[in-house]
Amino acid sequence: MSLKIKEWIMDLPEYIPGRTIEEIKEKYGLKEVYKMASNENLYGLAPGLAERISKDIENIYYYPEGNCSEIRDKIGKVYDISAENIIIGSGSDQIIEMICDSFVGPGDNVVIADPTFPIYAKAALKCGGSTIKVPLSGFRQDIKGLVDAVDGNTKILFLTNPQNPTGTNITADEFNYVMDNLDSTVMLVMDEAYYEYCPADERVETTEFVLKRDNLMLLRTFSKIFGLAGLRIGYGIGSIGAIGALNKVRLPFNVNSIAQKAAVYALDYMDHIEEISSRIYKQRQIYYNVLDSSGIDYIRSYTNFILINAGKNSKIVIEELLKNGFIVRPGENLGFPGYIRVTIASDDVNTKFLEVFTKIYKNCNKY
Ligand code: PMP
Repeated sequence: MSLKIKEWIMDLPEYIPGRTIEEIKEKYGLKEVYKMASNENLYGLAPGLAERISKDIENIYYYPEGNCSEIRDKIGKVYDISAENIIIGSGSDQIIEMICDSFVGPGDNVVIADPTFPIYAKAALKCGGSTIKVPLSGFRQDIKGLVDAVDGNTKILFLTNPQNPTGTNITADEFNYVMDNLDSTVMLVMDEAYYEYCPADERVETTEFVLKRDNLMLLRTFSKIFGLAGLRIGYGIGSIGAIGALNKVRLPFNVNSIAQKAAVYALDYMDHIEEISSRIYKQRQIYYNVLDSSGIDYIRSYTNFILINAGKNSKIVIEELLKNGFIVRPGENLGFPGYIRVTIASDDVNTKFLEVFTKIYKNCNKY
């Protein structure tokens, strides 16, 4: 090919997309297929929310409001943050891109855990930067190791609390350690996509630090517990300086108008959000009980997904689950061969899944 594509773009790893419900229905002739692979809120939207969102369709011939003022004000009110400290993205994915676009160039690096959410590396590599990877320790982020790995070319340290794909947390002490020991020229990105799934008394209250530190950016999303994954809307909270830099690279109409309105409405249902969080907490305990009594290993999670050891024949386990209408995420695609990552679904689907999975696990791992 004679086109001169940037060398580092050619080297980017390809994303392996998950299987779709339609594909699996057709392949195995199934009527009912449950996708438990991408960590959406499978309880669905708060009652009444869909009706409110649908009323805004008639206005879509206008471009969206470019500054996302209404949703920034609303987030500000709900979480007691100034709207000036908030930026909205088409998913928090897009804010990760904006951060790397603003801070990373050729010769720079970002420090990340290994394995972790793959978009951090992708966004940094896309800018010509490189990654310094610090292995997880006992399925948790090695906080001291990550801070120690920072060198003179490091622009960003990415932490995820709770983490994907393990579901493990970062404690308040660990967060304070990072705040105390990270060089002030390095941006700390705390990705809190699953924040609301932590029990309230274990959440690390990070927002108050944003006013004290220039080099902290928090990421949250409406894709997970708020149930708006299909609309693509997430947000960043940071110092006015850092948010100003991101606004320079942000495209003018980066978040569609329906997503902005839906997020404004979704924040009216905070009681419902806490209710989902405690339902998921209870479902996690049910998973643990069933897995424990079947002798199956798993990682205790602070999120709506669980990383489960599917045994030495995990590939067959995954195939058998598909045949039974359950799509899960193969750990092999996440840096954990032999494991599966399972999104906790609604109560009755979880019961069905656990029954089918434990049977398949025992059959596939007999010998
Ligand atoms: N961070 C983490 C840790 C995630 O798991 C995800 C979604 N898979 C995201 C960020 C991105 O979420 P979104 O772009 O949908 O806001």
